[in-house]
Amino acid sequence: MWISILGCSGGIGPGNRTTSILVDNDILLDAGSGVGDLQMQQMIQIKHIFISHSHLDHIAFLPFLVDSIFSQIEEPIQVYALPETIKALKAHIFNWVVWPDFSELPNKEKPVLVFNEIAPYQDIQVGERNITAVPVEHVVPGVGYVVTNQQGKTFAFSGDTATNDTLWEELNKRPRVDTLMIEAGYPNSMESLSKLAKHYTPQILAQDIKKLKHRPHLMISHLKPGLEVQISEELHEELKDYKITCIKSGDSIQL
Ligand SMILES: [Zn+2]
Ligand SMILES: [Zn+2]
Repeated sequence: MWISILGCSGGIGPGNRTTSILVDNDILLDAGSGVGDLQMQQMIQIKHIFISHSHLDHIAFLPFLVDSIFSQIEEPIQVYALPETIKALKAHIFNWVVWPDFSELPNKEKPVLVFNEIAPYQDIQVGERNITAVPVEHVVPGVGYVVTNQQGKTFAFSGDTATNDTLWEELNKRPRVDTLMIEAGYPNSMESLSKLAKHYTPQILAQDIKKLKHRPHLMISHLKPGLEVQISEELHEELKDYKITCIKSGDSIQL
């Protein structure tokens, strides 16, 4: 299973792309600005898109992706998200004002985009990969995703979250967690803002991760531009026993 980080930043700027992860060639987790670096040949291979929550940095390039490949694909792209997220996408993005409603184009019978509501803890099998939506704690309803391949190798993606129990409980049910992509958006000095925005700081992440019985490789994402060095230093200080990588767009791993 290939995991390609198309974007993982908490903002924009040279080299920074917002959250989007390609799993093998056909599954996308979130559709932030990282999607914009894909070649057409790569874009048309994407068949399943799992959205963590409705915030713009996680959905911004979904409208452009669908529009770009509209005439190139035979089967509709399947988008999976919580009902609240789909409602937000339909009301605020695909509403014929901001962007056309591609779930009705070219016609309602065979659209280019299909929205699929998912429930917390629902498993979806895509080929040889199983994807589970795990509720997390953010300012809008949100999930992370746990992706497992046939060999049981497991990649977990937290989405955006503050302190919670649900993600850790779900991961503890698994026999193994190889890699955990988890956010740490703000430095320790901005703890009060992180609590308002419902993101982790290194210190709060270090407290929370004590709930986890596994010791995965931590791929840290969503660092605020300009604060990467500070957050990275704090993470290495707080999480000395873990293998930590502050990831950037273009990184990839094989599981
Ligand atoms: Zn968010
Ligand atoms: Zn975000």
